[in-house]
Amino acid sequence: MSVKLKKSNSANKLQKRIRRETGKAIADFNMIEDGDKIMVCLSGGKDSYALLDTLMYLQSVAPIKFDLIAVNLDQKQPGFPEDILPRYLSELGVDFNIIEEDTYAIVKEKIPEGKTTCSLCSRLRRGILYRVAQELGATKIALGHHRDDILETLFLNMFYGGKLKSMPPKLVSDDGNNVVIRPLAYCKETDLAKYANHMDFPIIPCNLCGSQENLQRKNIKMMLQDWQSRFPGRIESMFTALQNVTPSHLLDNSLFNFMALNANDHEVLNQIEGDTAFDPIDISPIFEDETTLKRQDKIDTTSVSIIELK
Ligand code: SF4
Repeated sequence: MSVKLKKSNSANKLQKRIRRETGKAIADFNMIEDGDKIMVCLSGGKDSYALLDTLMYLQSVAPIKFDLIAVNLDQKQPGFPEDILPRYLSELGVDFNIIEEDTYAIVKEKIPEGKTTCSLCSRLRRGILYRVAQELGATKIALGHHRDDILETLFLNMFYGGKLKSMPPKLVSDDGNNVVIRPLAYCKETDLAKYANHMDFPIIPCNLCGSQENLQRKNIKMMLQDWQSRFPGRIESMFTALQNVTPSHLLDNSLFNFMALNANDHEVLNQIEGDTAFDPIDISPIFEDETTLKRQDKIDTTSVSIIELK
């Protein structure tokens, strides 16, 4: 079935951007290889529709051969519209499988009323999807997480878990049998939302289970949106930082051998960036308040902190 993009210049540009960013993430992390069979997890949300749509396009133009199979897990939530996905996927002409497992009943039975159900629900879902991937002979499991999910997870882990850790674009599953990939890792959530609108994806609401939205994630999302509106470019800068890590300038002994650090050790000196604490640092105006920067030729580390605190 041909894609039903509502024709407009901006819609075309958006589609191209999502396809380009997805292709780049796939290449940067070697997510898809010749002969792969990719199980695309389709929840019925905007991101998973965009993921399937984009992977189908890339499959049609890629120099390598890979198969796609869309999988939806019907968790038997009350009011789940069972007909939407089979109809959409049949019209699309993609292989698909709808798995029916009543995780809703398990969650309701195990979790007391009023408590958040997401953690057990997602553990159950994950286990089922891993099992299904094995049964289908899938070599990779593709999930629809995007750039903003990755940044939110980074802050959730820092604020509540005491870890500098995010959501990897590619990982081996907990059971060691599957490779999970996130081809939308470079895509902005706002782009995916606009794209879903242009494409008229038949969105299935995600609150059918009646669970409260994860409040902590919601707060982090609001914090990031607030930063982005006051300091345009900050999200991009933070995301770039995730691809630009300097272990010698963090405090994790397991990533950098501080114990063995000595003056005149040229092997180690070649691996580290040196101490720029006393040097002026160069910050592109896109990442900070331009008016403030115009008043200063150079900013030192102290003035950066002052800008941050304003
Ligand atoms: S929102 Fe509902 S379906 Fe989604 S993870 Fe939480 S409990 Fe499960």
